[in-house]
Order: sequence, then structure tokens, then C-alpha cells
Amino acid sequence: MACKALVNIGKIVSGAIDNPVLKGDTIIVEDGLIAAIGTAELLDKYEIDQTINVKGTTVTPGLVDSHVHPVLGDFTPRQKTLGFLDSALHGAVTTMISAGEPHTPGRPKDPAGVKALAVLAHKSFNNLRPSGIKVHAGAVILEKGLTEKDFEELSGEGVWLVGEIGLGSVKTVDEAATMVGWAKKNKMKVAIHSGGTSIPGSSAITADMVMAINPTVVSHTNGGPTALSEEEIDKLIEQTELPLEIVQCGNIKAAVFIATRLKEKNQLNRIIMGNDSPSGSGIIPLGILRSMAQIASLTGIEPEKVVAMASGNTAGIYGLNCSLIEPGREADLVVMDAPIGSAGQDAMSALQKGDLPGVSLVMIDGEAKVLKSRNTPPAARQVEVS
Ligand SMILES: [Zn+2]
Repeated sequence: MACKALVNIGKIVSGAIDNPVLKGDTIIVEDGLIAAIGTAELLDKYEIDQTINVKGTTVTPGLVDSHVHPVLGDFTPRQKTLGFLDSALHGAVTTMISAGEPHTPGRPKDPAGVKALAVLAHKSFNNLRPSGIKVHAGAVILEKGLTEKDFEELSGEGVWLVGEIGLGSVKTVDEAATMVGWAKKNKMKVAIHSGGTSIPGSSAITADMVMAINPTVVSHTNGGPTALSEEEIDKLIEQTELPLEIVQCGNIKAAVFIATRLKEKNQLNRIIMGNDSPSGSGIIPLGILRSMAQIASLTGIEPEKVVAMASGNTAGIYGLNCSLIEPGREADLVVMDAPIGSAGQDAMSALQKGDLPGVSLVMIDGEAKVLKSRNTPPAARQVEVS
């Protein structure tokens, strides 16, 4: 029955795009969940075991990286790197969604093999959360020969993600649309590559193809790394209601275009943020924070809403009970401030200036996993735990 209080909060950024700032300066966490949000009066109502003095800085939800390519554990063969997930935790990411595990050495491409790979990755990351991060993996790659029964079996084993379409041998609209139908029948969420080819073996996917295949989300709409043209992006914006993902390892000009257009249309709920790493562009532990700073500084969108694009928006689309500051949600929280020397006065104004905030605490399910990030610049004001 551990009960913790975050006190002296300067600003509570909720992660909800329609209500991005909450009133109050205190958050109570009980048994790993957010119990209450309000003022210091709450402290009398709970038996507090631990107090975290936030010193007037900002609390946000833990960030969601909507696009990772893990393999097993905290190792990636793509860039031959150990500990890359832990590094992202120090960049405020507490939840990750796999867009497929194509970097698995010797990845099988037959139906039995891709199914086994998805089940293995799903169960492995369920059993072992690297550094506490909630890695949702086991995103089946669509290969020729998969049947409707295969999707039923996958779903029966807990697999609920389809890796970005285009990674596997299923390349035509007809083949992909049929399998997406089977996947959705089994309540699976489907990602699709968009834009030019990424690595040798993947394929280019146009707006018309995306619309005909009808996924759950359009991966890296700003390019992975090669973006669709502005006309193609506009088609997706105007002719669909699909969530559009902006990734760090993509095209920044296209990212600004997407965010600006959706801001004009008052549809910022459609943007989610991912890293698309490890990839040819490498591993970027602060990638989500970098995307947030870029969008907040270059589009005029309020930074509090940009936080929602990297938290509540994604949690909502994927049906996760995290990354939104609301009673009953999993207590995945981040404390951040302007970095030392920033022209910004706090975390949100730093983002607006294009600076990366300094992270002084990352909490997952009510447990502090990081105190003073080893990757962000130091926060001007650090938390104090007592
Ligand atoms: Zn891709």
C-alpha cells in the first residue's frame, strides 16, 4: 500500500490534448496508480510514505515512443548496441510500441516463423521489462501465406500489434487489405510504412495505398526517412481520419508541414510521436524530446499540446491505461524543468525555445526509475525525495 506525494508542482501537464494543463500542485500516487490531483490539502487525506518535492517544476506523463524496432531484451543488432532502451528511459520514455522486429538476426519469413517470432517477442517483453519500460512488442510482420486462422492463433497468444506493413513480403494493396481485415477482426492494431523505402528490402507506400489498406495508424508520415510529398500528405489529412505519426528519424520539413496543417484543422489529436529507431539513422535516446522541441518551436503549437502528442494521444489510440495524468491511470510520470542556461524559464518555455528540458525524475507504476537523467542536460531545479 505504498503512497507517494509529488508536491510543490509548478505545472501539471496532463497529456490530454483537449485539456492539457491541470489545476493543482500536488499528485498522490497509491499502489502504482494516480490516486488524486489537487492541492496540498490532499496530504491530510492520505498516509504518505514518500514525498517528492518537485520544487516548482513541471510534471508530465511518461512519454510514449510509438515506433520502435526492438528485438529481445535491451540489445539491438541494427546498431550493435546494448542498453538502448535504458537510454531512452533517461529521455523520459516509459512506454514503447513496436512497429515490428525486423532486425532479428536471421528473421524467418515463412508463416510459422513470423508467427513464432511475434509470439516470442510479445511474451519475452511481457516477462522482462528492460529498466521497467513498458515495451509492447511482438508486432507480426505480414508475410505471404498467413491465413485468417493464423491471426486468430496470434491473437489467442496475446499478440495485438501488426508491424508496419511494407517490412514483409506482403506488398500489394489486395494482399495487405485482406490481412488487415483479419487482424482487425481480432482486435489487433495495424501500422503501415509510408513514403519512400527505408532499408533495402522495404517498399515505397503512397497515400492511395494507405487509404485502400486502411491501417490503425500511418507510421512516420514525415518519412522513414523519405517523406511523402506535401500533396500526398494532404490527401491523408483531408481524405482520412487516420492518426499520423511524426518520427524523429524522418524529415523535419514534412513534420512541421503535418503539424501545421493539423493545427489549422483543429485536429491535433491525430498526431502521435515516435523515434523510428533503431534505424539507419541510429539510436536517439532523446528522440521524443527532440521531436517535441522541434514541433513546439517551429509550429507555434502550445508545448503542452505537443506533450499530449507524445503521451495521451498515443495511449488513447492504442488503448493503454498510461501516459495521461488522471486518477486511476498507471503512475508513469516525469518531472522536468528548463535545462541550466536555457532561455526558457521552465520545461514548457524551454520546449518553445527549441531546447530539450532537463529530466530530474522518471517514475513508472509509482516507482522512481530515474533520478537526474544521465542523457538530458541537467534540470535547473532538481527534485528532492524524502
Ligand atoms: Zn517504416
